[in-house]
Amino acid sequence: MAEKWALLVVDMLNDFVREGAPLEVPAAREIVGHIQEEIQKARGQGVPVIYVCDAHAPDDQEFTVWPAHAVRGTEGAQVISELTPQPGEAVISKTRYSSFFKTDLEERLRQLGITGLVFTGVVTNICILYTAVDAVSRGYRVKVPESCVAALSSEDHRWALKQMREVFQMEVV
Ligand code: ZN
Repeated sequence: MAEKWALLVVDMLNDFVREGAPLEVPAAREIVGHIQEEIQKARGQGVPVIYVCDAHAPDDQEFTVWPAHAVRGTEGAQVISELTPQPGEAVISKTRYSSFFKTDLEERLRQLGITGLVFTGVVTNICILYTAVDAVSRGYRVKVPESCVAALSSEDHRWALKQMREVFQMEVV
């Protein structure tokens, strides 16, 4: 049976991408153009584009580890304007690293008959990695275009891609 893919866009939010943002990932600005291309390709081929976005409570326990970011309902929690979702595209809120944790992502993927996920966004060794690992555990095929993910350091980025490739046999392309 042919694979049915969806494109995931993870945490490409103002609070991660904009200069001076609370959880700025400077390298995220370099992947915007590549993600735009992937989104365009997906839309053209009828591949669902699914946005997964941090949406924290103001006192979320994650803020003991990271500066406060992507607080629900704020400008910082919005998808950057360059990658604005189209009407009808799913935007799923999450509060933890894995996009599967306490979200309806799995249910939506099941409804769409999705069997493979292409990952784009930030952060390579955090939300991307832990979501991708959860996807593999659930039997999805996982593809990660290297030019569409970014981390806080190139060391972290490379380490995560290596884990994906070697430990989880994801397709890092
Ligand atoms: Zn967060």
